[in-house]
Amino acid sequence: MLNRLRMLASNKSNLFAGNPLNRLHVLRSEEQQVNNIENADALYVPFYQFKPLATKQVNKQNRSVLWKDKKSIEKLLPNGSDVQGNIVLLGERNSKYYFAFDSDHPDMQKIEADQEYINLNFQGGQLEREEASILAQARSLLEWNTNHRFCGKCGSSTVSQGGGTKRTCTNETCKRTQYPRTDPVVIMCIIHPTEEKILLGRQTKWPKSMYSCLAGFIDSGETIEEAVRRESNEEAGVDIKTEDVFYYSSQPWPSMGGQIMIGCHAFLKGDDTIKISDAELEEAKWFTKDQITKAIQGAGQWDLNIEAELRVPPNSAIAHMLIKSWAEGEIKVREN
Ligand SMILES: [Zn+2]
Repeated sequence: MLNRLRMLASNKSNLFAGNPLNRLHVLRSEEQQVNNIENADALYVPFYQFKPLATKQVNKQNRSVLWKDKKSIEKLLPNGSDVQGNIVLLGERNSKYYFAFDSDHPDMQKIEADQEYINLNFQGGQLEREEASILAQARSLLEWNTNHRFCGKCGSSTVSQGGGTKRTCTNETCKRTQYPRTDPVVIMCIIHPTEEKILLGRQTKWPKSMYSCLAGFIDSGETIEEAVRRESNEEAGVDIKTEDVFYYSSQPWPSMGGQIMIGCHAFLKGDDTIKISDAELEEAKWFTKDQITKAIQGAGQWDLNIEAELRVPPNSAIAHMLIKSWAEGEIKVREN
C-alpha cells in the first residue's frame, strides 16, 4: 500500500493565502447595510487598470498598500466622477471596512512620486503577506465585475449587488444572478520512480534556463487527479496514475478574473521517457536533487547575465513551494 509521510511545515503558506478580513457574507445580503458602511469609516485601495496603488520599493524593503479614505478618493478622481461602476466591498477587520475600486481614467495616474501601481502577479511578493492576500481578493473581484457587465443569457446590462459579490440582470423577465467564478488550475511536481529526480518544463517566453512545474486548467467534469494525469501526459508524455497524485496546498492567483492553483505531487511509477507534444512547452527534463537545491538558493535573485543550468520560480509561486518541499525531504513515499 502506498503511503505518504508529510510534515505540516510552517512554510506551507503561499503568497496570496491567509486573507485576514471578515468577508461579511451576512451583511452583504442587505444592500442598505453595504451603502451605510461605504459612507462610514471605510478605507479604499485604488486600482488603475487592475493594478493596486502601493509605495515604491526602496532598498528591497516591503511595499505598503495605500489605503485612502473617501475624501482622498474624491480628490484622486477627476471632477468628482464616481466609481460606482466598479467598487467592491472586501470585508471588515477591527471595525474598519475595506473597499477597492478600479478606474482607467488617465487622471488616476496623477500620484505622488513615491507611489506606483504594481502588477500583483510579479510584484505581490514585495508586499506584507496579509496585504497581498487582500489585494488578490480585490483584483479578482474587480476584474470579474468589469467583465460581467452584461447578462450571459439575455444580453441586458447587469448591476452589482452584495458589495460586488454578485451581479443581477436588469431585464425584469430574466433577472438572472451570476456569481464570481474561480478557475481551477492544477500544478504538479512530478517525482521520478527513483524519487531522486523531478520533472520540470519550460516555455519559450520564459527567462533563460528557467524551468517550473507543469500546470493546466481543469476541464469540465474532471477531478483534480484526472487533470494532473491528463496534463502530464499531454505536456510531457508521462503516464501518472490518478491514485499517485497527492494534494499539497493551494494558492489564489489573481489574474484573468481569478484562479486557484491546486498544488500536487505526482509519483511516476512506469516509463520515465519524456515526449513533448505541447506547442506551449519548449522543453521538459528530469532534474536531480543537487540541481534543484542549488537553484532554490538563488531563486528570485536571478542575474540573467550569469550562466545557470537551472533557474526556478521565486517563493511567491506555489511551484517553488512544491519543488522545495520535495527537495527538503518533506514529500516521499514508502511501501508498507
Ligand atoms: Zn438576463
